[in-house]
Amino acid sequence: MAEMSLSLDMSRLRGEQGAPEESEQREREMIIVGAGPAGLTAGIYGGRSLLKPLILVGQTLGGQAALTSEMENYPGFPNGVDGMGLSKLMAEQAERFGAQILYEEVTSVDLAVYPFVVKTYGPEFLARSLILCTGTSPRRLGVPGETEFTGHGVSYCATCDAFFYRGKRIVVVGGGDSAIDESLYLTRFVERVTVIHRRDQLRASPILQSRARENAKIDFVWNTVVDEIVGENAVTGVRVHNVQTGETSVIPTDGVFVYAGLIPNTSLFRGQLDLTEEGYIVTDRRQQTSVPGVYAAGDVQDPWYRQTVIAAGAGAAAAIEAERFLAEAAHKARP
Ligand code: NAP
Repeated sequence: MAEMSLSLDMSRLRGEQGAPEESEQREREMIIVGAGPAGLTAGIYGGRSLLKPLILVGQTLGGQAALTSEMENYPGFPNGVDGMGLSKLMAEQAERFGAQILYEEVTSVDLAVYPFVVKTYGPEFLARSLILCTGTSPRRLGVPGETEFTGHGVSYCATCDAFFYRGKRIVVVGGGDSAIDESLYLTRFVERVTVIHRRDQLRASPILQSRARENAKIDFVWNTVVDEIVGENAVTGVRVHNVQTGETSVIPTDGVFVYAGLIPNTSLFRGQLDLTEEGYIVTDRRQQTSVPGVYAAGDVQDPWYRQTVIAAGAGAAAAIEAERFLAEAAHKARP
């Protein structure tokens, strides 16, 4: 069956129309899975190495960074930059050097064969080097009402949805940088933000903490977890309990923004690559995974920093290493 589809593909590629379109070329020197800051920067570096990298975008360009309303710590932007704007610039830069960006979600990879096989819902590709930059996804609370109201009162992206809550009261769940950063952003739109945190100390950086504490629109509910998101046709509140007293209550709200951390997107690689207990891809200091020729960069292999600048740096390193791997392989293959 595989052979048949290969021959069909090849006949189409070599048909009367002449050279295959770039989008149809099956075998690639470098395939990058994921188009956040790590993947796009790998694309810039791979492009500059004349490898014509193919960047496969799962759903949206930019990954978690694109969901960040305003980045104040990315070097070179003293007045801050919005995550989506930065991602678009990175994509433009990668394309300028010959990277091809394709909106195809990867459905499986086979790392036991070489070249590696990369399948999508559409075309299937072969990769002589592979850079995995699949990032992370927001952790869900896993409480009743969360799934039902997602997109209708429950959100994981202030940048995307703040506009719909103009003049309303909302709750933010979590105590990390994302929760506090996005709470501050949300105050531009909403009347009140109530941050619900399961402890009595925030994990967020001191500068964000002090800004939030000084913001008259933000209040905190400490030592409290959400048990249910309640409402009929729209969210009207969250049922919570205090972890110290056990006391339960309902906090009225028009919307819930969840920032309870991130989980790595590695289900495609389970059983094929070494992963940590938490599911992150294990890499060495040169972004090499447990399979030679396969590299990983960005949040998918970084549970420590998860910063755009670090993801971008790791993407650059991965592309440099992949280029060295290909050069070495070509050298060895010489008669
Ligand atoms: P995070 O640092 O892992 O924080 C997650 C927060 O959610 C923690 O406060 C955690 O509580 C809470 N939490 C986890 N599971 C929960 C649950 N089931 N119910 C309720 N609360 C729960 O995640 P993040 O804030 O998304 O940040 C991710 C990374 O991106 C971090 O490294 C962060 O520094 C970085 N980041 C940086 C910036 C910036 O530099 N401006 C902005 C955004 C993100 P506990 O504290 O009790 O564990």
